[in-house]
Amino acid sequence: MQMVEGLAINFATTRTHWQTLAQFVDGCLRAGIRTVGPWREQVQAIGIAAAGRLIRDSGARVTGLCRSGLFPAATAEARRAAIDDNRRAIEEAAGIGADHLVLIGGGLPPGSRDISGARQMVADGIAAVLPDARSAGVLLAIEPLHPMTTADRGCVNTLAEALDLCDRLGEGVGVAVDVYHVWWDPDLSHQIARAGRRILAHHINDWLVPTRDLLLDRGMMGDGVIDLAGIRRMVEAAGFFGPQEVEIFSAENWWKRKPDEVVATTIARYNACCRASA
Ligand code: ZN
Repeated sequence: MQMVEGLAINFATTRTHWQTLAQFVDGCLRAGIRTVGPWREQVQAIGIAAAGRLIRDSGARVTGLCRSGLFPAATAEARRAAIDDNRRAIEEAAGIGADHLVLIGGGLPPGSRDISGARQMVADGIAAVLPDARSAGVLLAIEPLHPMTTADRGCVNTLAEALDLCDRLGEGVGVAVDVYHVWWDPDLSHQIARAGRRILAHHINDWLVPTRDLLLDRGMMGDGVIDLAGIRRMVEAAGFFGPQEVEIFSAENWWKRKPDEVVATTIARYNACCRASA
């Protein structure tokens, strides 16, 4: 089996079929993909020790564990619970040998109109768990999310904002560059260059026109309007040569297809339009 280098599959892409960690890792390896991005629910379903063994025995490599963060909450108790949950996520990431833990901001607390307050809760939450991450040797990758998700999932929206957080927090924190969330940013090339070695992940997919669902209508690379090769060139110029990780939430299209077909398509599209040389 010829392994495909430079490409990783995120569990979200094939989640409707390869639901367990074992199914997911096996499926990816069979397709020639050695690098995988699991989600916490897969690790929790079998426990950290078993998940770690499974990964080690398979020979797969883990990019980021998805995902933690989601710090803003209406009460101090709920904010503490979110911080505790992030500490568990750090243990899970360490236990499976993940390269990093992907972290998103979280939305506004129910009933709140205080977006700057929510963003402060994200900064405070990351600061609270960073010592745990450092001692566990787990890098935290802040993934800015598209502004359309601000209210309900991600109030850190631009690479500039995420990098400002990194500047304040120091060692152990970086960014995940997901093309879906940042492609529109007029300051993208500058912010990717600014990120430099703090780029921990590069997620790929495509922006469809029209987009029919704010969460579950992401496109396959090449089917939309994102200059994937152009963004990869920026990312490599900044010093990141890690894998491009396919992350496609697609309830009405790709999630309905057979996972082997989905992965074969991702490989073909990766070769056709995602490499820096494409
Ligand atoms: Zn992503």
